[in-house]
Amino acid sequence: MNNLKSKHMLEKNSHKLRFQKDLLGWFDIQQRPLPWRSNPSLYKTVVSEFMLQQTRVLTVIPYFNNWINIFPNFQLLANSNEDNVLKNWEGLGYYSRARNLHKLAKIVCLWDSPSKDIKDWQALPGVGPYISAAITSISFNQPNAVCDGNVVRVLTRIFAIHENFKDGATAQKKIQPVAQKIISLIRPGDYNQAIMELGATVCHKHNPLCTICPVHSFCTSGRKGDSEKFPIISKKRKFKKNVERYWIVSESKILLQKENNNSNRLAGIYELPKCSEKDILKKGNLICKKNRTIGQTDYSESIFHGYLDPKLDLKNQTMKWVKWEEIDRITLSGPHRKWIEEIRKSFD
Ligand code: SF4
Repeated sequence: MNNLKSKHMLEKNSHKLRFQKDLLGWFDIQQRPLPWRSNPSLYKTVVSEFMLQQTRVLTVIPYFNNWINIFPNFQLLANSNEDNVLKNWEGLGYYSRARNLHKLAKIVCLWDSPSKDIKDWQALPGVGPYISAAITSISFNQPNAVCDGNVVRVLTRIFAIHENFKDGATAQKKIQPVAQKIISLIRPGDYNQAIMELGATVCHKHNPLCTICPVHSFCTSGRKGDSEKFPIISKKRKFKKNVERYWIVSESKILLQKENNNSNRLAGIYELPKCSEKDILKKGNLICKKNRTIGQTDYSESIFHGYLDPKLDLKNQTMKWVKWEEIDRITLSGPHRKWIEEIRKSFD
């Protein structure tokens, strides 16, 4: 995979330059006006790339705008406490990204000047091959090719790559050297954004818009009309898990529980309590069942009325009573905030 597919036209340097020119020309006119693209800065690039991991652009935009208002630069982010950082990430999910971004800001603030070296960025919390390539190419014009799901889709179609990849991460790792071979050395940051933009807005998973694609003439599968075959990625194994939660309210308060395990994606975030059986005085009726997916696992969460043992000492617990008027200030996971509001309304 380190070499471009033999006999592909992009092996020829003149074709490669033409491809870059066509793609960049299209991007210059058609790119979406995204908030991190107006008055760009290293900080905005870093924040947007952290937020965009696993999350759609439209979801990220309001979070990004709010974040820039609250934490306009590395220093103010570094100075903030973690609860405030998580609160402003609430609803975006994958909270380790927020914690890592916070740690990264503290380290970057200690640098004399921002490093242009991809290896320095890769040594920072939460920064892998994709984010480091995006940051160094967009902010410092370094020729480091990004390879996310969009790039995999575009390149496996352009080169009609028939390899069956075990999963998306493996595909990204294997396609990255192909991306590196055809990156523009003059405008690498714009080129990286352009190829991702093409994947996001033209080269859709289903029904790619090949007739208006700026690089159609270079695309083997687009010309053949079988683009949707690519990329070939084995279906991921899904897991299922059942969880019991409790709705425990007393006068003007609700009992919530914080995830304390740092390796858990929801570390530092409050949800309805799971409680161990010994903490519960009485398990009441089932209120509702809710479903959500975290990573590869589909969760079915059954929410029961619960009555806590009054003798239970909450000081040694991860649980805490929260007054209803304070619930907006607590960092809850997105689904649990929605469910709590819904259940509360149903009892009004
Ligand atoms: Fe994607 Fe079609 Fe363009 Fe090829 S021609 S890159 S398949 S949109």
